[in-house]
Amino acid sequence: MPGNMAHAERERALALARESERILLSGHLRADGDCLGAQAVLFHAFRALGKECEILLPDPPDGRYGFLREKTPWAVKDPQAPLPPHDLLMVCDCSRLSRLGEMGALVEASEIPRIALDHHPLEEGKSPWTALFHDLNSPASGLLALEFSRALGVEPGPEACEAAFTALMTDTGWLKYSNAGPVAWEAAASLVAGGVDTVKVYHEVYQRAEPGRPRGIAAAMSNLEYHEDGKLALAWVDEASLDGEHASLEDTDEVLDLMRAVDGVEAVAFLMPRSGLWKASLRSLSVVDVNEVAETLGGGGHARASGVMFPEGTTLEEARGSLLKGLQDALRALP
Ligand code: 5GP
Ligand code: MN
Repeated sequence: MPGNMAHAERERALALARESERILLSGHLRADGDCLGAQAVLFHAFRALGKECEILLPDPPDGRYGFLREKTPWAVKDPQAPLPPHDLLMVCDCSRLSRLGEMGALVEASEIPRIALDHHPLEEGKSPWTALFHDLNSPASGLLALEFSRALGVEPGPEACEAAFTALMTDTGWLKYSNAGPVAWEAAASLVAGGVDTVKVYHEVYQRAEPGRPRGIAAAMSNLEYHEDGKLALAWVDEASLDGEHASLEDTDEVLDLMRAVDGVEAVAFLMPRSGLWKASLRSLSVVDVNEVAETLGGGGHARASGVMFPEGTTLEEARGSLLKGLQDALRALP
């Protein structure tokens, strides 16, 4: 149960949504299943209430979630264009303007009310949001979107249930990760009982990889190294190896899960090229706070799952070195 402060904040967010007629939805760069799923749930709730609503993403989402578009339309923002007319902006699955890419500056300069619906740790300092719908303990923003929808009096229909299920399953690794507690399992059960086609969602998200993916993963795993007596695993793959196998490795959870599956491993990091930069994904098993490590390197995320985009010009050796040092320091600081 959220405390009084959080409760008042949530009521403010709900009141803003109730009084708004043209709602613009968005989310973080390279939207994943949770980010898209949360937006889809809200989209259908607002439409059911007779409001105008559109989803505008800062850049193209991860392709494996394209199936959600059959039931929920979205557009990708033209970098030159202003934000479309709206009287409320709602951003899902992030609460840092920097995670909106170039859209962040437009949002910051705008006077229009804005809400973040999120489950990531909040940035310190002054909040850039008019109101927050935030719960650090929620396993997925998609579940927060369901709560939001129900608080507005809208019971989710089949489209919203499928979207919320996709959000929950992708953020919990199909209910495997440490964020999958009773709340996640109960929500999953009620969505499944409501008719979600789980086999279809699994197939769309996890069984439609490109033919080069297994060999792309093999290339990545050939660069696997262990440190700190096997408590730390680090791996990387470069553009040339991925191109050679026609592998995109859009989603790295499989690689990270495999590294984290090794007995004795507590923290893992994987480096790969993305949009011309080095992108790191960090995961831990139970004690290392990889959000703290990612933050020192300019990224962020959750305690057990975080990411970093290294600045332009960073070499593989530099990125690898700073990741290794950050994780080593975190492991050595443990009691
Ligand atoms: P992934 O490694 O799957 O891309 O991301 C894991 C988690 O870290 C997600 O919660 C994601 O939102 C967050 N994350 C990934 N990349 C970044 C980044 O560059 N900056 C921040 N602040 N968070 C990130
Ligand atoms: Mn999420």
